[in-house]
Parts: sequence; structure tokens; C-alpha cells
Amino acid sequence: MKTPKYIFICGGVMSGVGKGIATASIATILKWYGYKVTCIKIDPYVNVDAGTMNPVEHGEVFVLKDGTECDQDMGHYERFLNQELTKENYMTTGSVYLSLIEKERSLYFDGKCVEVVPHVPLEVIEKIQKAQKLTGADIVLTEIGGTIGEYQNLLFLEAVRILKFKNPKDVVLILVSYLPYQGEGGELKTKPTQYAIRTLNSAGLNPDFILARAIYSLDNKRKEKIAFNCGIPQENIISAPDEKVIYKIPLNFEKEKIGKKILKSLGLSPLIKDSERIIKDKNELMRGDSAKLIKTDKKDSHKSAFYLYEYIFWEKEIEKIEKLNKEIKIGIVGKYFKTGDFVLSDSYISVIEAIKHASWHLGYKPIINWLNSEEYEKDKNKLSELKNYQGIIIPGGFGSRGIEGKILAIKYCRKNKIPILGLCYGLQLMVVEFARNVCGLKNAHTTEVNPKTKYPVIDILQEQKRFLKGKLYGGTMRLGDWSCEIKKETIAWRAYGKNLILERHRHRYEVNPKFHKILQKNGLIFSGISGKGLLVEIIELPESTHPFFLGTQFHPELKSRFLHPHPLFVEFIKTFKVC
Ligand code: GLN
Repeated sequence: MKTPKYIFICGGVMSGVGKGIATASIATILKWYGYKVTCIKIDPYVNVDAGTMNPVEHGEVFVLKDGTECDQDMGHYERFLNQELTKENYMTTGSVYLSLIEKERSLYFDGKCVEVVPHVPLEVIEKIQKAQKLTGADIVLTEIGGTIGEYQNLLFLEAVRILKFKNPKDVVLILVSYLPYQGEGGELKTKPTQYAIRTLNSAGLNPDFILARAIYSLDNKRKEKIAFNCGIPQENIISAPDEKVIYKIPLNFEKEKIGKKILKSLGLSPLIKDSERIIKDKNELMRGDSAKLIKTDKKDSHKSAFYLYEYIFWEKEIEKIEKLNKEIKIGIVGKYFKTGDFVLSDSYISVIEAIKHASWHLGYKPIINWLNSEEYEKDKNKLSELKNYQGIIIPGGFGSRGIEGKILAIKYCRKNKIPILGLCYGLQLMVVEFARNVCGLKNAHTTEVNPKTKYPVIDILQEQKRFLKGKLYGGTMRLGDWSCEIKKETIAWRAYGKNLILERHRHRYEVNPKFHKILQKNGLIFSGISGKGLLVEIIELPESTHPFFLGTQFHPELKSRFLHPHPLFVEFIKTFKVC
């Protein structure tokens, strides 16, 4: 394709309106039409990346293969698109200013005065175009964080305005807006959306499409109203009702032919024809068929065959998921953030999605409950509630709050043979529990919580010491993809089926090599070891002792995808006793 195309997605009325999922869904649809897409997230924070933000307040910090610590929406893009993204796909106000200032300091601007406008928006555009070149994407979708009307994202809107002004045919702007339902009067209200559009107008922009987020579908009467008041073609106002299974959203959008409409606005037409899309009876199509399709299809239809498969399989999978009724119950023992009367669980979003992918794959409907580890510290009797679950997950985390409660939960699961999966801090606390209660190392601990412990079974990574000393916290953890060797005849081996894997990390501490021997002597298996043989990446107990007691130093949840569940989550759920 000659000229790359750009789609921008911004949000109106309220935060958390679903821009990330809308962006991922539209990108997925365009991919089904045969286009190469990539997604970018812009966060309006001054933080250079999301790594220093508190996940319990801000939501999960997602980690890319190259170690970029970013917003959880990047996870949605990867999960929908089944693509690995890199640092070029993410920017914040902080990172934009940082690179602009670095340029200025190197005399890039030849002594000219560098101004907020136009230099900041131009830097944004340059970053977007760089990502396009690097990925070779035909269409780049950029999500602008925050809500229209906020001061923080004005410069990003200015970037859209400039790019659209220069290339009117190559840029589409989509507003994802919220329509509240007024219970008493019984209707979806359009006024807040109209105000959001007026505010966009004052930034020199009018959206080409509206995605109307609401608890219900938007009827024609209200579409007409928005169209008339805001000068947007009525057919470009797309209904986006709440959906339990987020992966159904691309199918919902497609009911209103959003893909073709967007392509038309960009002067493009589908690369995959409708006749090709329905070429096969979807009930006959099985997972392995993609390979067959690619082989048997005619000359340059390699690409179309693949996407055709994805689309059909996606549709089929959603139909299957909606019919699932065999329930499994999984508890996530974590610490939770209370704001007023509400408890947020956003910090574990990738774990939740990974559970869903694996459960659906195995034909189960997962019921996920939040178990607050601090409660176990207050009352040990509460631990017996763990018996109500087929499996328990101890997710990643930092600091000391709720830690003893998590260790108690691990002990309970080990003793009562409840399948348990520990992720990062989860693995570390499993080792602490095992050291204390099986190896007899009294009060063994991680030095993250107790630097003076007699038995520092989890200790800071050697190379991390200088970062902490110098207060160099940003982007300095052991991050991103690291390779790991899998030991034969273990649960990990059965799950992965190969001896070398790549998984994403985000931590400063590790199993202390000084205690490797004693832990192994007492029966802990190191089933995943880093390349150089020094770092323990997976621990497990033999199946003869426990059905599934396994922890990973990395975060497998970050690599689970909708149609490609993570093998360790699948293996975990396979061990559940389901009546
Ligand atoms: N706090 C632990 C460490 O830094 C675990 C981090 C995590 O769970 N991501 O090693």
C-alpha cells in the first residue's frame, strides 16, 4: 500500500469508556479484511512509562517483549491481534517531552526556539510515523488516553488536527463516547456526547465516527439526533452496548459494517471479499485448518486464507463460549484497592484474561473470585474458604501488605492439595512457605520484606543493587523476554512440550542461589532455569505429592491470547476436579 493510513481513537464523557477494547476490536476487524495493522497507545501522564505507577491504583502495568512497561490497553491489543508490540507502540507526555528535549540539547533544531506548539505535536506525529515504518503497517490505530475536555491530551489532539489537515484522506477520527441510561425516563441520553463533540470541535476536530457506549444498543432516533446536532453521517454512529465477553465486540461492530465504512473513509476497500469470508462452513472448520487452508488456497491468497480462518474461528469460538455452562471456580489471592465503596481489580487484568482464554479452550465457564489475603492475617479460619475453589492463583506484587496472608494461603493449598499457580511474587512466596514449613528454615523470607532475615531465600538480584542504591527505579527491573530451559519429565515440560521458552519478566528479586540445594533436597523441583543456569524461573512439586503446585518467576499471563491460551494456564486448569 502506498500511503499509510491513520485512525485515532479518543474518548468522551467519562474515563474507562472502553477505548482500548474498541481500538483492539477495530484493528482486529481491519486485519480480517486483509490489512496489516498496528496499535499505539498514548498516555497523557508525565511519567515516562507506566513502570513507576502504583498498579493497585492505576491498574496493571503491562510488559512488552522488549521490556517496555506500559498501560494495560497494550495487553488488549496483543490479546486481540495476536501480535507482539514494542516500545514504539507506546508513548506518554513524559516520553514525548524527553525525546524532544534530548533533540534540542543535541542542537537538532539548529538553535531555533523550540515551542510547545508545533514542536510537541510534531514529535508525536514523528513517533507515530516511526512506528508505522518499523511495523510496515498499512493502518496505524492510535488511542489517545484520557477524556475529551481534559487539559492533558490537548497536544495530542493538536497532533491529530495537524496530521488530518495535511492528509485529510488518510486520517479518521473516532470518538468513543458514553450514553448514560436514565432509569426513570427509560432512555439513553445523548447530551453529554453532544458536549464532548463540541469540545472536540474547539480543538479543530469533528469525529468521523462515534462509537456509542451504553448498557443498551443505540436506536435510530438517538443516532439521528447526534447526527443532526453534530454533523456526523448517521451511518457512522455505531452502537457499542456492554458485552460480557469482550471478544464478541468486533463481531458486534461488524453487524453495523464498521470495517467497510472505515475503509471507505480512508479510500480503501476490503482485500478479502465477502465470498471468501463464507467460503467454508464454519462448523467444519477446526483449529488445525489454517495450515490446510493456506496450502490449498490459490496463489497470493496465503494472507487471505489466514485471516479468513481467524475470522471464522473467532466467530465459532464466541458461539461456543456463549453456550458454556460447566463452571469452574478460581480464586485470586491478592491485595485489593478500595476507593470508597468500590474495590478495583484492574491490577490483575492479564491474569483474568489468561484464565478466561484457557478455561474457554477447555470448555469451561470460569467464575473468578477476589480473595483478600489481609483477611487471612486477621482470621486464619477464613482460609477454609479456599476449599470452595478448584484452583488458586497467587499473582505478582510488591511490598509487604498482605504477604503473610498469601503465605498462609499457599500453605493451605499445599497441605490440602488444592491446585495453585504462583506468578512472580507468587513463586517467591511459594518458596518462602516451602522453606519455612518443609525445609524448617524458621522465619525464612524475601529480603524485599525482611532485609534482616536469617534465611533470605528470596534475595535481590545482584545487578539490581546499584539501581536501588542510586534510586534509579524507572525501567531498571529485570524486564521483558528472557529465555528459560525446561527440565524434562516435569509439569512445565508437559505444558510447553519444548526445552527452550521465552517469557516476560518484571522483578528485582529471585530465588537466592545459596538456598538452591536445600530447597531441592527437600523436594522442590526447579523445572525452569535461565540460560546460564543461575536463576530459577519455574518451581514445582512432583505430581506424586501434589496435583499442581507450580510457580513462575516470569508472567505467563502476559503472553496469553484469545485464540491462543497460555500452556501453563491450560495445564493448571486441566488438573481441576470438575463435577
Ligand atoms: N516484588 C517482587 C520482585 O520485585 C515480585 C515482582 C512481581 O511480582 N512482578 O522481585
